[in-house]
Amino acid sequence: MDPDRMDELARDPRFIPGIYNYCDQWCERCTFTGRCMNYALAREEESGESSSQDAENEAFWNKLHETFDATIGRLEEVAEEMDIDLDDEGFDEDLREQEEIRETAHSQPFSRTAMRYIDVVEQWLQSHEGLIGDEPDSSSRGDLHGRGTGDDVAGIQDCLEVIRWYQHQIWVKLCRAATGAIRAATEDMEGMQEDADGSAKVAILGIERSIAAWATLLDHFPDHEDAIFAMGTLKRLLRQTEAAFPNARAFRRPGFDTGGGTD
Ligand code: SF4
Repeated sequence: MDPDRMDELARDPRFIPGIYNYCDQWCERCTFTGRCMNYALAREEESGESSSQDAENEAFWNKLHETFDATIGRLEEVAEEMDIDLDDEGFDEDLREQEEIRETAHSQPFSRTAMRYIDVVEQWLQSHEGLIGDEPDSSSRGDLHGRGTGDDVAGIQDCLEVIRWYQHQIWVKLCRAATGAIRAATEDMEGMQEDADGSAKVAILGIERSIAAWATLLDHFPDHEDAIFAMGTLKRLLRQTEAAFPNARAFRRPGFDTGGGTD
């Protein structure tokens, strides 16, 4: 993407600054696509793509190279913002510290629960493979208890989609939140705790939506009461997350919580 075009888009008043920093990246289901610069950028790039495979591949590598050039140009700047000297001998020490922070973040109770949830979902999905048949009247839908309408199937598929979408994202967002909170406590970095709360809020919303999706599944398939393990894990995770990030719910995500504008 041409940097001038990027600047032009960044100045476009249609877009809410930073809205994409605290969303769930599920653009297909997003209600703010018309206000999101990231979305517009992605669509522009897609519409410029050639239908030929070679041209598509060339565009892919060119884009990656452009990203590389832009990143190298920005690297020193970002490092300076983060108070890291890339040429300094202390850089190795910074890397070690970063690794320690990462390990601490991963070992937080909520991170461990979120990781466990990933496994619980995986196991549940494996053991219920074929829960929804490919055909609307497939025999695999025999346990819909007489409620097997097309709408039901669409709803069930939606629920599975929701569960799949947030299955890993919850863990990723919580680890990001934990990392930010650790750094906020140990370093004097402005806005770090607030950013951590923002990530925790995205995780909380993913947890709540997943619980609702599981509840709907259970309603359709009362025989599959083992879904309760996934819901129970999420409920515990919600409690742990709210305890660790008491200000997360109050965080106002640009656009989503600010009524389409910014504060
Ligand atoms: S704000 Fe919406 S459109 Fe933009 S990146 Fe996030 S999910 Fe996608």
